[in-house]
Amino acid sequence: MPQDNKEKRKSGDKKPSNSFQTPKGTRDVLPDEWPVVEKITNTAKSLSEFYNFLRIDTPILEQSDLFVRGVGLGTDIVEKEIYLLTTKGGDNLALRPEYTAPVMRSYIQHGMSHLPQPRRLWYIGPVFRHETPQAMRYRQFTQFGMEIIGSADPIFDAEIIIAFYRLSEELKIKNVTIEINSIGCKTCQPAYKKKLSEYYKKLDICDDCKTRAEKNPLRLLDCKDPKCQPFKQTAPVILDNLCPACRQHFRQVLEYLDEAKIPYVLNPRLVRGLDYYSRTVFETFVEGETAALASGGRYDYLAELIGGRSTPAVGAAAGIERIAEVIKNKGISVQPKAKGKVFLIHVGDMSKKKSLSLVEEFRRAGIPVFNEPSKESLSAQMELAAKNNAPLVLIFGQKESYEESIIIRDMESGVQEVVPLSKAAEEVKKRLR
Ligand SMILES: [Zn+2]
Ligand SMILES: [Zn+2]
Repeated sequence: MPQDNKEKRKSGDKKPSNSFQTPKGTRDVLPDEWPVVEKITNTAKSLSEFYNFLRIDTPILEQSDLFVRGVGLGTDIVEKEIYLLTTKGGDNLALRPEYTAPVMRSYIQHGMSHLPQPRRLWYIGPVFRHETPQAMRYRQFTQFGMEIIGSADPIFDAEIIIAFYRLSEELKIKNVTIEINSIGCKTCQPAYKKKLSEYYKKLDICDDCKTRAEKNPLRLLDCKDPKCQPFKQTAPVILDNLCPACRQHFRQVLEYLDEAKIPYVLNPRLVRGLDYYSRTVFETFVEGETAALASGGRYDYLAELIGGRSTPAVGAAAGIERIAEVIKNKGISVQPKAKGKVFLIHVGDMSKKKSLSLVEEFRRAGIPVFNEPSKESLSAQMELAAKNNAPLVLIFGQKESYEESIIIRDMESGVQEVVPLSKAAEEVKKRLR
């Protein structure tokens, strides 16, 4: 046996594959990226709270049929991008590729229709799509979203759009455009789809579009193939084909946006890639960036598609990584330079030994203090304090540890003073004020 092992090692003398990498399309969020991520997350959270949304979360895993029926068979998400798995018990599950269907599933499951309507819900968490990784398209990314479930009133369409517009405002992202459209309802959409499909069938379209013309004609307008681009311009426009109720609904959404002074442009060719949308759809774009920042719309039929009662709803979502990329591209500074913490310097073994409990004492007194036990020399520690913008440095040397005192040094003026240890917290607080 040992002989065998040796043989194997010899023949497989290549580098052992013991170094791991993140799976394709996924990434680590390293410490220097967190300030931006946290800024976006906190802004999203406070915005949701401001607009009276309540937080919800759903499992990362759902029954795969939820998305097949909710998002739709003919969509990219379900056909190409969804991660499916079969459990040992034989259940077919999916990593959630989006949140809207799970949130609606939760609304139905927990009988939220019995609570005052509409329900305003928000979420933030990871979603998974097996896309071809391109710049800033991750297979695991973080989605923030808001949903208003239980009302068909156009004022809620406007509220969602306004909330997402405010999100970019609060993050200081400038030149945001909202593209908006209405894609009609059960009454008016079928006739339009037929028109669209007939128009495209006469043209020399790509293979994907040939399938779309049969299965999902609205998606014809979403084709990215250069071959199909010229056909869009003269394609029948849905806005000309809306039923009176949809036209009225859309007009009211726009009136609310006008009232709130939210800039938008009509894009009669905007359709969303998901089957559950009806009436209002929108996407927000930043000047100079091709991908949408946020997108959403009304989904009055989703509840029925997944086995609930008819429940009108509207919502939208944005990818945190996308927003972070825009913030980076635009060179937006997300936060004022952080105020440094007080730095505690130890010199010598005895002082090092005591420094740990000393730091704790300051923390208990509500003073943010940090130290670096791995550094021994005074100068190295001073350097570190300066690098971290410490407003004050506490020098606790051999002498001070005997005398139960500590030196407080003001880093700006360079003035230092010896104070008794028992008064240190109080003195530090005074200086920080
Ligand atoms: Zn309609
Ligand atoms: Zn095409």
